[in-house]
This record gives sequence, C-alpha cells and structure tokens, in this order.
Amino acid sequence: MKKIGLLSQILIAFILAIIVGAIVGPSVEVVKPLGDLFLRMIKFIIVPLVLASLVVGVAGTGDIKKIGRMGGITFFYYLLTTAFAVTIGLILANIFSPGKGLDIAATTETADPAEAPGVIDTLLNIIPTNPIASLVNGDMLQIIFFAIFLGLGITILGDKAKTVYNFFDELAEIMYKITAIVMKLAPIGVFGLIAPTVGEYGVSVLLPLLKVILVVYLGCILHAVLTYSVSVKVFAKMNPLKFFKGIAPASLVAFSTTSSSGTLPITIKNSEENLGVSRKVSSFVLPLGATINMDGTALYQGVCVLFIAQFFGYDLSFAQQLTIVLTATLASIGTAGVPGAGLIMLTMVVTSVGLPVEGIALIAGIDRILDMIRTSVNVTGDASAAVVVNAIEEKRELKVSNGVSV
Ligand code: ASP
Repeated sequence: MKKIGLLSQILIAFILAIIVGAIVGPSVEVVKPLGDLFLRMIKFIIVPLVLASLVVGVAGTGDIKKIGRMGGITFFYYLLTTAFAVTIGLILANIFSPGKGLDIAATTETADPAEAPGVIDTLLNIIPTNPIASLVNGDMLQIIFFAIFLGLGITILGDKAKTVYNFFDELAEIMYKITAIVMKLAPIGVFGLIAPTVGEYGVSVLLPLLKVILVVYLGCILHAVLTYSVSVKVFAKMNPLKFFKGIAPASLVAFSTTSSSGTLPITIKNSEENLGVSRKVSSFVLPLGATINMDGTALYQGVCVLFIAQFFGYDLSFAQQLTIVLTATLASIGTAGVPGAGLIMLTMVVTSVGLPVEGIALIAGIDRILDMIRTSVNVTGDASAAVVVNAIEEKRELKVSNGVSV
C-alpha cells in the first residue's frame, strides 16, 4: 500500500466498499466501527482547529480593512454560487418532474421534521453568550463569531497581543499536523462508512425515489462542473482538472462522512497542499465555508421542494420558485455542516411556499444517499472559494508591491 498515493487508496477503498456492501448486504454492518473510528478521529480535531485557524486567519492579515475586503468577497462568492446551485436544481426538477406519477403513500412514514428555527433567532444565535460553552458544545457559528472577534482584537492590539497570537498560531499548526496523521486512516474510514450504507439501502428503498436521487446527483455534478470549473479557470487561471483532482480526497471524505465540518481539516490540507491556497486565505475562507456555504444542500432543497409540490399536485408559480431560491439560499446558510442537517432546514423552504411538510417524510428514507453528494459539493464549493479568493488576494498584493494604488 505504501507506494500508492492517498487519493488512489481512498478511491480503491471506496470502490471496494461498494462491491462488498452490494454482495454482503445488511450484515456488512460489522465494519461500521471502522467508519466510526475515522469519524471520531477527525471530529476531535475540528473545534480547536476552527478556533485556532480562524483567529490566525483574521489576525494574520494584520489589517482590518483587508479582513473586511476578504470577508466581503468570500461572502459574495458564497451567496452567488449558492443561488446559482438552487437555480440549477429548480431547472432540472422542472424538466424531469421527479415527483409526478409516483405511486407511494405519503403517509407510510410519519412526518417528523424537527422545527427549523426562525430567521431572526438563527441570526441572533450566532452571538455566543458564553464562548466557552460554544466551544464545549461545538457550536460552529458561535465559535466562528468568537474567533473572528478574537482575531480582530489581536489585530488592533498588535504587538501587545503577540503571545496570544503565537499561541493560536502554534495550536493551529499542531492541529494541521494531527490532521495529516489522521488522514492516513481515511481509506479504512471511507470503507467503514460506505460499505454499510450500500449494504443497508436495498433496491426496494431506492427504486421508487430513483428519479429524485438522479436529479439531485445530476444537478450536483452539473453545478460542480459548470460553476466551479468556470470560477477557478476565470478567477485563478487554474485548470479545472487540477482543481478537482486536488480536492478529490476531501470530496470523497465528505461523500463518506456526510459532514462538511468533519471534513474541514482535510479540506484545509488539500487546499493548501494541492491547490496552492495560502494559509491566510484557507484559514479564513474554509472554516466559514464549512459552516455557511452549502451549494449542494441548497440545490437539494430546490429539487426536493419541487418534488414535494409535484407529488401533491401543486403548481408553483415563477414567483414562488424565486421565493425558493431565496429561502433555500438562506436555509443552506443556516444548515450546520453535520449529517442530515439539510433535511431539517428543508422544513423552512417547504413552508415558505405553503407546501405540506408531510412531504419531507418521503425524502427522509433516502436522505443519507442525497446527503452524500450534497456534502461533497458543499466541500468542493468551499475549496473553489478559497482558490478564487486566494487568486484575487495575490493579484492585489502584486499590484501593491508594484506600487499601484488599489
Ligand atoms: N451534511 C451536510 C454538510 O455537512 C449538510 C446537509 O445536511 O445538507 O454539509
């Protein structure tokens, strides 16, 4: 195994898992602890990594104006690509009508969608009342808020806060090192996560909803190929193939773990080592992206809402579809980067256009399958933002060093 690169090892494990899962069936569950082992190993990195890398990401720029600019570009890119993703989802769902003519009872499963919080509460909730509690609970948005302010404080104090800065810098460095060690387990982890999933989902579960699955997968692939290829090519002059190959380990881990936050250490590692993103940019753009940028989730929500409308025989007007673009974009921002979170936030989108939330139960049975591809796209989208922001920042720095005022 030594001579084979990590990406190939992960790919082999992935294909092997599908074969073994399909042959052995549900009893392949015995390998699940391998997946759980890997999951836990990457999860324990996240909180200290996000805190330390984001503090360093903000404070390392050393300039409040620059942080504001980088934040602005990042946020704009995230919003735009997400809105784009929902639109692709809606177009495909209109073309393929995955919800029409389905012969399944909507009431076979009881709808149990957890209440999605309102917009104002979601926004207010970003501010921690006790940042230590946020760290203990792993509340990502609150940790990000705290880290950004710590970084700003350090920037304003300058040399006076050097010790604290160095502490976070070294902590971040340590967490990156641990990531590198844990990544060696990725092939085993991917096998342990994928094989039981394949074993669990039989044809009878998947077949009735095959059209939704295909539409979501097609949409995600289209979005990745169109949107990310174009943006890395145009803004960073990067060959899209290099981009996809460079981020492939993270995308595969995201596919297997269905967690953007869980994949974050690997996303950072791949972006820096394979895509040439600077530490400054990756440590700012990626933790933010893993929490608020969810193109795959937004696309999936677009498809699912239309699917539910079609299933119950509602016709959605153009204005209602625009509402979906808006609410799905917002809902995806509010979605945590953890397994299944997108399904919960789907309630918000479904109710925004007055559809019955019972429809969500239809999706629930196959959500894991949809979660895999959407998380993979979520993570790929974050990396594309890192590449683009990195290129814009590099260009600006070049101009500044050439004496052009910007
Ligand atoms: N699992 C997704 C993620 O971590 C979120 C979702 O459920 O859509 O990115």
